[in-house]
Amino acid sequence: MLEKSSSEQAEPAQAEMPGLEQSLDPQDWGNFRQLAHQMVDDMLEHLATIATRPVWQEMPAATREALTQPLNCQPVGEAAVYQEFCQQVLPYTNGNLHPRFWGWVQGTGMPLAMMADMLAAGINPHMAGFNQAPALVEHQVLECLRTLMQMPVGTSGVLCSGGTMANIVGLTVARQAQAGFNVRQEGLQQQSQPFTVYCSTETHGWAQKAVEVLGIGNKFLRRIPVNNDFQLDLTALGQAVAQDRQAGCQPICVIANVGTVNTGAIDDLPAIADFCQQEKLWFHVDGAFGALAMLSPRLRPLVQGLERADSLAFDLHKWMFLPFEVACILVRDAEMHRSTFALTPSYIAPTSRGIIKGGLPFAERGYELTRGFKALKVWMCLKAYGVDAFVKVIEQNVDQIQYLQQLILQSTTLELLAPVPLNVVCFRYRQADLTPAQLNALNQEILLQLQERGIAAPSGTMINGQYAIRVANVNHRSRRADFTHLVTAICELGAEFAPKFSSI
Ligand SMILES: *Cc1c(COP(=O)(O)O)cnc(C)c1O
Repeated sequence: MLEKSSSEQAEPAQAEMPGLEQSLDPQDWGNFRQLAHQMVDDMLEHLATIATRPVWQEMPAATREALTQPLNCQPVGEAAVYQEFCQQVLPYTNGNLHPRFWGWVQGTGMPLAMMADMLAAGINPHMAGFNQAPALVEHQVLECLRTLMQMPVGTSGVLCSGGTMANIVGLTVARQAQAGFNVRQEGLQQQSQPFTVYCSTETHGWAQKAVEVLGIGNKFLRRIPVNNDFQLDLTALGQAVAQDRQAGCQPICVIANVGTVNTGAIDDLPAIADFCQQEKLWFHVDGAFGALAMLSPRLRPLVQGLERADSLAFDLHKWMFLPFEVACILVRDAEMHRSTFALTPSYIAPTSRGIIKGGLPFAERGYELTRGFKALKVWMCLKAYGVDAFVKVIEQNVDQIQYLQQLILQSTTLELLAPVPLNVVCFRYRQADLTPAQLNALNQEILLQLQERGIAAPSGTMINGQYAIRVANVNHRSRRADFTHLVTAICELGAEFAPKFSSI
């Protein structure tokens, strides 16, 4: 232990200073090993018993208070900080591990992947590239994902932190491919024709972030109306592109959705692919969760056409159930992908032998240089369980949502608010004597009661001005009975709260 009073003079530098040098490894490996085993046991117990706890609970005020203080960095030791984690953090999360959590689109994680993340952090390889075993694992994973998505041989890819980052990487390559000048060098300062990008009004918010950060500007993101199935309206798309060309803009890209965040809508991919081919536009597909339907022979016809994408982004931490964070971007034109990001300063120049032989291919496929070993959890889970295990759960999720849809259609008090093409259903409780505004308020109350009572955790959204309870099922722990339970609870809460809302 380094202990030195501040008044003490520093020793003159010596060749060796035994006892004075420190590392951040445990001081007592034996004790630490015990504690680490305890952590694993506790977490496995937590996962194995997750269904017995409420889906969610409000934090006690004292816990919130403790965690909003300035961080106290007086050393308490490993065991004590673990106790704090168990008491203050572990019980008060979103609830997304629970079988009745269906809010937003939050994955559930898997125990084997959790252990893989520990192993990955343990060996802590730098994943800019470096052609050692970890890089080969990521290459294998990317090649496997490419095959599953039926993209052609030679397609390039990289794992990203999430769908947002994967999509932004895709749109960056689109800008590079379509610019017609050296956009990396010139930026968008000199160009006379503004670039325009097209997507449906149902597109996720990443698209706005992307056009903002790429210098295209939110004003030039054309949000095209949707049809009754919440799919991009192709006639309106054609008109918008023609109008923009006439007005002196340079259309560069159409973003298609495979599974919109609100309703799970899937755009007409073959038609958009054809349109992009005719118009020489980049065809980008946001398949955040929906692209994973491609793994299932039964569901594949719904999403066929995504394999024609110039760039395809999808999450593995949503509908492939892996813990956060991991997503993937695939780019058909590998050289275009590389030339969008490659740079080789001397401090990372490859050598012909040694550790950096083979260069840093992953750093040349995105924004990040230092990257973690996300690939390991994908690799281990795919190998341990096989693709079929994932296919079964994905299909099961769709079947469960069909079942929920049936329950809604059979109910006299529930109303479906949107078509159910995939694994998302939007609906509400209904009573004839309530006004539209009262129904909106009542349904939001029902949703919050479901969450606050720890019964279930759907999320809410607006569908054509109507407040919807939204169930997005990417949960491998859900069972049919959980959906029956949800419907019963909603009908009870509706009956309980409707009188309170009929007067406001
Ligand atoms: C979740 C989602 C995203 C964003 O992905 P993150 O992993 O949250 O960054 C983009 N598009 C759709 C359709 C999504 O559901």
